[in-house]
Amino acid sequence: MPSSTDLPGVNELLATAVGAVGGSERPGQVEMAEAVGRAVRTGDHLAVQAGTGTGKSLAYLVPALRHAVATESTVVVSTATIALQRQLIDRDLPRLEKALAKQLGRKPTFAILKGRRNYLCLHKLDSGMEDEPDDAVLFDPFEVSRIGREVKRLREWVSDTETGDRDELVPGVSEGAWRQVAVSARECLGKARCPVGTDCFAEKAREEAGRSDLIVTNHALLAIDALQGYQVLPEHDLVIVDEAHDLVDRVTSVATAELTSGLVAAAARRAARVVDQDVADRLLEAGDGLALIMDDLPVGRLDEMPKPLHGTLSALRDATHACITGLGSEKSGDVDVQTARKLALSQLEEVHDTAVRLLDAWDGDASQRRDVVWRTSDSGMGPPRPPTIKVAPLAVSGLLRERLFAQTTTVLTSATLTLGGNFDSMARSWGLPPEDGPSVQVPGAASEKAVDGPKWTSLDVGSPFDHGRKGILYLAKHLPPPGRDGLPPAYLNEIKELMEAAGGRTLGLFSSMRAAKQATEELRKRTSLEILCQGEDSTALLVRKFAEDEATCLFGTLSLWQGVDVPGPSLQLVIVDRIPFPRPDDPLASARQRAVEARGGNGFLSVAATHAALLLAQGTGRLLRSTDDRGVIAILDPRLATARYGGFLRSSLPSYWTTSDPGVVRAALGRLDTAAN
Ligand code: SF4
Repeated sequence: MPSSTDLPGVNELLATAVGAVGGSERPGQVEMAEAVGRAVRTGDHLAVQAGTGTGKSLAYLVPALRHAVATESTVVVSTATIALQRQLIDRDLPRLEKALAKQLGRKPTFAILKGRRNYLCLHKLDSGMEDEPDDAVLFDPFEVSRIGREVKRLREWVSDTETGDRDELVPGVSEGAWRQVAVSARECLGKARCPVGTDCFAEKAREEAGRSDLIVTNHALLAIDALQGYQVLPEHDLVIVDEAHDLVDRVTSVATAELTSGLVAAAARRAARVVDQDVADRLLEAGDGLALIMDDLPVGRLDEMPKPLHGTLSALRDATHACITGLGSEKSGDVDVQTARKLALSQLEEVHDTAVRLLDAWDGDASQRRDVVWRTSDSGMGPPRPPTIKVAPLAVSGLLRERLFAQTTTVLTSATLTLGGNFDSMARSWGLPPEDGPSVQVPGAASEKAVDGPKWTSLDVGSPFDHGRKGILYLAKHLPPPGRDGLPPAYLNEIKELMEAAGGRTLGLFSSMRAAKQATEELRKRTSLEILCQGEDSTALLVRKFAEDEATCLFGTLSLWQGVDVPGPSLQLVIVDRIPFPRPDDPLASARQRAVEARGGNGFLSVAATHAALLLAQGTGRLLRSTDDRGVIAILDPRLATARYGGFLRSSLPSYWTTSDPGVVRAALGRLDTAAN
C-alpha cells in the first residue's frame, strides 16, 4: 500500500487529470483541489463555492481518490441530481481511472450506490407478493391494465439488465408498476434469508461499493445512513457533498413522515394475511376513524393537536402495536410466510412510528417543539391526492452536526453557497458554527444553549466567467409589483417584447406552474415564436428541443430553476417573473420563520429571503454556462430593485452589469440575436 507521502501531490495529479481530459489549468480548480487536500489532512470540514466552469468535480475527485488509495479507505461523494451522478460515473471517473492509474500505483475503483428501492427485487418478482394497488388505481381499469403491461415489461427486462437499476430502464415505468417489483430496506428479507439473495441486484451493488475507493450516492441515502441508524453505506472517513445547497431539503424529506387512511388500510390488508382477522380488523376500524376525521381537519399547519385526532392516533398506535405483537418472532422457516410477515411488519411499523411521533409532536411549549405538523391540501394542478398529515423536523442542523460532521470529515460544495455575500446562512442550516466562532445555536433542539461546533473553513474560488462583461441584469423597475391573481398584463407585454428582441432563446422561470401555463397560453396567441411549456412532455425532452432550436422558448417552474444546462446561443435571455419567496402558507417555512422570530432574530430575512436568494442565484445561473456565453437576466418583479431586502438578494448574485432601462436591454438582445444568426 503506497503511503500518502509516496504518492505525487494533489497538484501534480490534478495536472495529469486535466491533461487527460483535454482541459487547461484553471486557478480556481487548483485552489479548490489544494483546499480539499488540506481538509483531508487536518480533518476540518470545508465549504467551497465554485462557480460554473471551475471544473469542481475534478477538484474534489482527484484529492479524494488520492486519499482513498493512500489509506485504503472509502470516500463517499453525494449528489442531489441524477444528472450529476451520471456525469461522475459515466464521464469523469472513467477518465480519472485511466489517467491516474500510473501515478497512484494502481487503478482507482469506483461504484454507484442508491437506496434499495431503486433496484429491482428478484424475490418480490418471483414470489408474486405484489403491493395492493392504491384505491384510485383499483377503480380505474385503464390504470390496472397499464400497470399490468409495465410489470410484464419489467419481467422481460430482468433477463437483460446487469444492474436492476431503475434509472437504466428506458423508457421508464410508472411509480405504481415499479412498486410491484421493488422493496424498501425495511421490507427486504436480508441476503441470508432471501432465496435469491446471492443474485440480488441491491446486494451486488452494495458489495461492489464496499470494495471501491470511491462511492457515488445521493443525499437521500447519505441522510438515511447518517440519521436513521441503518448502515447502508460501507465504512468511510471522508464525505464530499456536491450540490450542497440542496442538502437540507433532501435531509428534511428523508426525515419527514406522513399518514393517510389509505396507508393504514394497506397495512391492515397486509396484516390480515399473517395475523388473526379480528386483530387486523381493529386496525382497519382505526383507519376508518382516521378517514372520517381527515376531511374535517383544517388544511395547513396544525399548531395545536386537533381534539378528535388524539383519540384516533392513540387507536392507531394501539391497533398497529397489537398487529406487530400478533406477527410474533421471525421463527418460521417457510419463506412465503417470512416474506408476508416482513412486508406487513414494515408497513405496520411505519404507521405505528408515525402515530407515536404525531402524538408527541405537540408536547410542551411551542418554542421547544422539534416537529412541524400539517394537513396537505389536495387542490393541486395534478391528479387529486388523498388528504395527508405530514410531520417534518423544524430543523435538521442538529442532526447533521451530530450524525454527519461529528463522525466524518465533510467537504460541501456548490456553485451557490454564499447568500447575501457570505456562507453564514448555509452554515447555520447545516449546523456549523460561525466560521470565526466556537459555538453554534441549534434551532429546534431541546436546549437553545450554544455548544461547541465542529471546526470548518470556507473558500470561494469564484468563477471563470466575467459576469460584468458577459451578462446584463435587467431590473424592470417600471412594472407593478406582482399580483395575487396571475401575471399582470404589463408582465405579459414585457415578456413578449423581450423574447421577440432576443429572437426566442428565452428561458422563462416562473414561481408557479399556474403562472408558467398562463404565460404560455397568452403568449402563444401573441407571438409566432415557439413556446415549450414544462409538463407538456418530459422535462429532459423539452430541454433538448429548446437547446436544438435557437428560436424556441421554454417556460416552466422549479425543476427548470436548477436543472437546465444549455450553453451557447439557444439561451441568451432568462426571465424571472417574481422573487421566489416561499408561499406564506408553506407550513415548514412559516414555522421556521416563527422559530427564528421567537429567538429574537429576523425570521423573514433568515428564512424567506434566504430561500429566495438561493433560488434566484440558481435560476439566474442558467444564463452563463460557458466562457463564450452572453445574455440578459430580466427580473420583472420590481421589488428586487425597490424593496429593502432587495440589496440582500442582489448581493447573492454575481456582479452583472445592471440596468433598469428596457430600451438598452432590448437593443442588447437584438445585437446578440444578430450576432448569433
Ligand atoms: S435480498 Fe432483499 S432486495 Fe434482494 S432479492 Fe432478496 S428480498 Fe429482494
